Parts: sequence; structure tokens; C-alpha cells
Amino acid sequence: MNDVLKGYKGRARKTLESFSIRVWSEAEVDTTRGRFEGIILPRSENDDDIHIVLKLATGYNIGIDINTITGMKEVGYKEAHYKIPEKEFPTSPEKPNVKLLGTGGTIASRLDYRTGAVIPAFSPGELYGAVPELADICNLTTEKLFAVFSENMGPKQYIELAKAIGEQIENGIDGIMIGHGTDTMHHTAGALSFMIQNSPVPIVMVGSQRSSDRPSSDAALNLIHAATAAAHSDIAEVMVCMFGPTSDEYGLLHRGTRVRKMHSSYRSTFRTLGDIPLATVTRDKITPLHQNYNKRRKDREVAVRAVFEEKVALVYYYPNMQPDIIDSLVENGYRGIVIAGTGLGHVNKPVYPAIERATAAGVTIYMTVQTLWGFVHMFVYDTGRDLMAKGIIPAENMLPEVAYVKLGWALGQTDDLKEVERIMLTPISGEITEREPYNGYLVYQGGIPEIEAFLKTVHR
Ligand code: ASP
Repeated sequence: MNDVLKGYKGRARKTLESFSIRVWSEAEVDTTRGRFEGIILPRSENDDDIHIVLKLATGYNIGIDINTITGMKEVGYKEAHYKIPEKEFPTSPEKPNVKLLGTGGTIASRLDYRTGAVIPAFSPGELYGAVPELADICNLTTEKLFAVFSENMGPKQYIELAKAIGEQIENGIDGIMIGHGTDTMHHTAGALSFMIQNSPVPIVMVGSQRSSDRPSSDAALNLIHAATAAAHSDIAEVMVCMFGPTSDEYGLLHRGTRVRKMHSSYRSTFRTLGDIPLATVTRDKITPLHQNYNKRRKDREVAVRAVFEEKVALVYYYPNMQPDIIDSLVENGYRGIVIAGTGLGHVNKPVYPAIERATAAGVTIYMTVQTLWGFVHMFVYDTGRDLMAKGIIPAENMLPEVAYVKLGWALGQTDDLKEVERIMLTPISGEITEREPYNGYLVYQGGIPEIEAFLKTVHR
């Protein structure tokens, strides 16, 4: 029998029963904090029994503590609808062939407008039903590799993904899109930038910050921009294609080794750090901003080196960090450590002996900076020189996450630490630059009058 209180148990179930409320009904919920209106969403087995979850008209879900509920009324009912209209994706021989490899994340799901149910939208037919513009850009085919939120991506998935990309390129694809959760997209972009070299075609990662049931969703636009970049861009690199400014005028193409998610909820969250983005992209135009990039060339042979040593750690330094943090990594068999140090690349004195013990035990340690912008400079203070004498190697202006994936990749290839150092300090894909351009530092700070005035001119 169809349970109208799907997933609700215990006290929460009793509360819904006492007011004769069904899951998927539109309800008015009176509480000691005021009235809420929305759709009653189902719950999963592992959830508690003291909250009722409501999807508000804004698209946000809220949990309401049953102890605060004073009354509930059903004002409508929308039956769950799990099917997206699926249309055949139109193809034509003139258009470039693009492959979308799916890994999961918000971009891979679509919430049913009426009910709030999460349903996957992934096949070309579903995507065409949802974003018909894609068919004007390319012939699209898809392959679902994983269906995970991006915190669950890791070395195994990087390797599988890199191999799948290599196969697509060998089969003559014109461009690749990778659907990915935004949270760790920059880690995967970094890993792929090392694992896949000399690509003849663009490899474009895309995600969305807001699911497509919300009026402010960036899913469709990001997909259109990423498809345009994969099909038509001249830039044959691993890139991230995401929302540019808050006005949805254009998307930005970021180099895979210089990009980072910088805001937990804004759509304009990805930023190129220490450089300028590679290009802007609109529905019909790609405008390069950068002079130096790997150009599209169909006759080039891709080199895929899909390896990764999992025993590598990224340690974010904080004042009063204790040496046992480093010692425990050594005891647990870690072979490489990247530290995100303070300022120009520092950690406190008590950690020094642990660093000495680690490097003496053959663990290789690289220093990056928490400031994210700028280079590690360990010659400026004695403390930096001391750390280098203990074996820490400065990692130039590699972003901490990028140094982490590069070290995993380098140690996956060799045990020879001199060779690892050579790999680490040789720029491969823009992860180390000669200098950072004056306009590669783009943090606009609100509050200051002149910045507020400037921001008003760009945030329409
Ligand atoms: N938590 C999600 C993820 O990274 C968020 C997103 O897709 O944007 O997979």
C-alpha cells in the first residue's frame, strides 16, 4: 500500500497523522515561530522523528521541530512526478560531437517543480527536454560514471575519469564535458590537469550551485556555456566553466590548476586565483582573456598518466598545532604531506622537530600558503630558512589543493624523492606561474565606500 507518510516515523508521524497531513501535500504550518507554507517532503530512514521537512516556495527546505507546531492544514496536494519529458536529441553531421561524462552533484539532479522530489536528469533526451538550446550547439552523448556528491570523489574516481576521458579522445570526440559537484570540482580539475596532458580537445568541467527547481538556478546556463566551450573553444585544456558575474551575462573558463570555489552559496563562486581566467563564454561567443593556452589540434596525441598515491595528506596549519599531527601521519605510513602554512609559508616552532623526524623517515613535505594568492617565500625570515633546512620544499604559487593532487600524482609514479621534487617544481599545466599579474588578485571587499560604488556598477 502506498504510505502517505513516506519516511516519517515516531513522533513526527503522529503529528502529521493528528492533523491529517500527507507527504506531498501543500500545507500551512503554524508554529510558535510563525506560519510556514510549503510542500511536505518525504524523509529518509535515517532521519530523526522530531522534524517535519517543508519545501518553501523559494526552493529552500526547512526542518520544523514538531514541538513548536501548533496547527497544520492541508491546502493542496501534488502527486509526486518522477518523469521528465524525454525528447530525442537532434543531431546533425555539421555539429561537433561532445561527450558529457557524469560524476554526480547538483547538476546531475533536477527537482520536480511541483513536488520537490529529486529526480535525475542526465540522458541526452532528458537534458534536451530540460535545456533544448544544447541541441543548437553540439551532438551530445552522455555516460554516467558515478552518481556521487563531490565530497566522495577521490583518487579512484580521478583515475577512472582520466581513463574515460582518454578513451573518448582516442575515439575522436571533439570536446568533453564533465558534470561534477561544485564543492570539490577544483580538486578534480587539478588532478585531471596532471593526469591528462597534451589534450587535442577542450575538457570542460561544469556544475551548478543551485538545483534546477529554483528560479535562480545556474544549471541550464552553465550547461549551455560548457557545451559551447567543449564544442567550439580553441582552448584544449582541463577547465572549469561556471557562472561569471552575478548578472548572468557570461560564464568564465578557468584553468584547472588555478581555480577554486570561493563562496559556499553564491552562483559566482569559482574564481581564478593568482592569474586571470582563460576566457569568457556566452551562448554564442568565446572571448579569450589569456594569451597563453594549449590550442585545439586534432592531430595531437593525448598522454594519460592515471596514477595516484593515496597516502598523501593536506594539513592546514593553525596556531598551536602540535607536532603529534605530523608524527601520526608518519606513523600511519603517509609518504607525502602538503602544508598550507601561514603568510609566506610558516608553522610554529614546536612542529619543527616533527618535520625533521618526518623528512628523516623519507616523508616528503611541501609548503604552500593559506593566503591562496601569492608565492611561498621561505628565505625572508630565519624561520623559513630553518624549515627548509629541515627538508620542507617550497611549492612556489601552487594552490594547496593543487599541490596536494600533484604530490599524489607524482608519488604515484616514483619512489625517488628527487624525481618527485623535479615533477613537483616543473610547471605542467599553469599550476606554477612565473609571476602573478596585477589583475590576478580579484577580491572585491564590500563595506568600503569606493568599492561599494564600484560594485553597484557591476552588480545590476
Ligand atoms: N554538495 C554538492 C557537491 O559538491 C554541491 C554541488 O553539486 O554543487 O556535490
